[in-house]
Amino acid sequence: MTARPAPLPPRTMPEILEAARRATCGQCWARPLEPCAVPADTGPGACHLARVDRAARRGVVTAAEMAAIITAAGAALSPAAVIGGGRQP
Ligand SMILES: [Zn+2]
Repeated sequence: MTARPAPLPPRTMPEILEAARRATCGQCWARPLEPCAVPADTGPGACHLARVDRAARRGVVTAAEMAAIITAAGAALSPAAVIGGGRQP
C-alpha cells in the first residue's frame, strides 16, 4: 500500500488559463506562454478550448479543472471556443 499525494487545492479560472498557456494552442498555434489569437473583447488571458485540452492531456490541467472549463464553454463547446476569465499574461 502506498500513500497517495495530497490533492492539489482547486485553482481559480485565471490560474487554470495561465497553466494552459504552457501548451501550444491547437487552434491558433500560439506557442507556449504566447497569448491566443482571440478577439480583444474576450478579455485578458483568454484561451482557446483546444489549448486547455492539450494542457490537460499533458497533466498541466487536471480532469476536474477541464470539467470546469467545459462548463464555462457551455453551448459553444468546440476546439475554437474561447475561454475567458483569465488575466493579463
Ligand atoms: Zn489559441
